[in-house]
Amino acid sequence: MSDVIQLLPEHVANQIAAGEVVQRPSSVVKELLENALDAGADHIKLLFKDAGKTLIQVIDNGKGMSQTDARMCFERHATSKIKKTEDLFHIQTKGFRGEALASIAAVAQVELKTKQPEEELGVKINIEGSKVTAQEPVATTQGTSIAVKNLFYNIPARRNFLKSDTSETRHIINEFQRVALSNPNVHFFVQHNDMELYNLPVTNLKKRIVDVFGTKINEKLVPIQEKTGFVNISGFVAKSEYAKKTRGEQFFFVNGRYVRSDYLNHAVKKAYEGLIAQDRHPGYFLFLNVDPSSIDINIHPTKTEIKFENESDLYAVIYATVKRSLGQYQVAPVLDFEHDSGLDLPYEYKDKLPHKEPEIKVDRSYNPFKDKNQPSWEALYTDIKDDIPDFPHDDGVSHEKRLFESHETNYHKTQQIQNKYILSTIKSGLVLIHQNRAHQRILYEDFLLKLSDGDLQSQQLLFPLQIDFNQNEITVLKTLVEDLMHAGFTFETIQKDHIILGGLPEGLNETMVQEFLEILIQSTEEDTVAEDLSIVNTLAKLLAKSAAIKVGQNIEPKAQEALVDNLFNCKEPHISPFGKPCFTTITIDEIDKRL
Ligand code: ADP
Ligand code: MG
Repeated sequence: MSDVIQLLPEHVANQIAAGEVVQRPSSVVKELLENALDAGADHIKLLFKDAGKTLIQVIDNGKGMSQTDARMCFERHATSKIKKTEDLFHIQTKGFRGEALASIAAVAQVELKTKQPEEELGVKINIEGSKVTAQEPVATTQGTSIAVKNLFYNIPARRNFLKSDTSETRHIINEFQRVALSNPNVHFFVQHNDMELYNLPVTNLKKRIVDVFGTKINEKLVPIQEKTGFVNISGFVAKSEYAKKTRGEQFFFVNGRYVRSDYLNHAVKKAYEGLIAQDRHPGYFLFLNVDPSSIDINIHPTKTEIKFENESDLYAVIYATVKRSLGQYQVAPVLDFEHDSGLDLPYEYKDKLPHKEPEIKVDRSYNPFKDKNQPSWEALYTDIKDDIPDFPHDDGVSHEKRLFESHETNYHKTQQIQNKYILSTIKSGLVLIHQNRAHQRILYEDFLLKLSDGDLQSQQLLFPLQIDFNQNEITVLKTLVEDLMHAGFTFETIQKDHIILGGLPEGLNETMVQEFLEILIQSTEEDTVAEDLSIVNTLAKLLAKSAAIKVGQNIEPKAQEALVDNLFNCKEPHISPFGKPCFTTITIDEIDKRL
């Protein structure tokens, strides 16, 4: 037989890459604003029409581009911001992947005008569907203007998938607010369909927050300031009476970059414990500065997720700092702060060096339900040292690892309680782990990785599985097919009232499929996936939920230990993917008090 493998044409490769970078108009807004900031602009205009569906234009007064660069910037992996691998660990700019403009140009009609300060004339380039259609000299002001027209004009499926104008505009505003808050030293002007939305002069952070969210917030802001060996925290939190029913005004910025972290959010929320009702959300604008080499911003294509080397220390510092500041500024504290030792920053967190990678990794992908009759949990525990011989090792031990004293030598330190909790010892006392939530967390992070790498295995079904849906559901399902296939589903047929599946993602129990697809369809209709922009995230959550070990299930000792180890190797071991605590600790002090 003749050879069948070919390299994809560049424009097809760009379109595929665009699927990751450009999910909706707000993704374009984010990329263009970040490029303007990276170019050193201090005056940035954002103009958009029809929720960004017909036009998104960003005009900056930054350093502009040369003629050659103006052409080059649309090439994939073309960037001026990094040159070698090491640069990845010292990134000072917002962008670095060199993918944004190539991706945008693959799925829209783009007009670029740019001029460097020393040049007389600038250059104008038109490009659509990755093809340059015009290039000519142009008289223009210093800086760059990029107009992105008719987003997804060449991918109708994606265009149809866009939400209502209200919803897409809200996404754009959200992105804009993040950028505006983290750059008070830049003048921003925003206009939607000839209506001015923002005109924000250069100012300080507090005034910028007020300019964006209104004067009402002014008296509610409590300043936050803390410096330790590994992090500087500054910014504001809102007093408890300002807490909202929705999670609107919550912002974490790490080295100037907006990030989302359920885990750190939890630290702030915990600092408000006793001050606000459970269903209320505190407002905060927190800026963390850490050594760039202690974070990995590279794990998510749109870069709102971040991996910290010393996350649990950060948690403790944020919690203590916010709680202390609230104590100082809260006029009528509900709690008695004087007697709360939790207010002081534990001295060990001061001047702490960043932690190193733990030496032993565990296989989080192990699924106990694969073999329903004989769950062999042994496989949960593997030492990747043997699998990857040149994995860079370090003698440093992670914080989580150190929690478990004399870890290597003493291996039967766990005990299952009522088939629900795993009890284990830590330096300061006891830890009680909720087996179901812990396993959900482990699986969730693993699915997330696999889904974003696209390497989740598909399991062929012995008998194809038919599932009935109504016509509405089928319509929604069709928009999800591509992502579902990416996640390991194989569709044999999609009819008006049913589908037939030939394969499922590894780890998804056959009996769960119907419920899983129903939840997915419902959340897509309700637009609830929109907040994290990703079906991947929803899929990972639901897959984890369906595959995680349940309460009531007996776990053998070795597997209990593996579960504990796996949990503390997670990025965010403290909470389940559904926001519930995974474990609690009981200190010796607390025990002493009782005895
Ligand atoms: P990245 O930002 O990751 O480098 P992009 O595709 O966003 O990738 O941009 C590619 C390159 O184009 C940038 O590295 C930069 O050199 C140049 N560029 C993009 N936008 C601007 C701008 N507004 N002003 C000056 N240069 C820009
Ligand atoms: Mg960029």
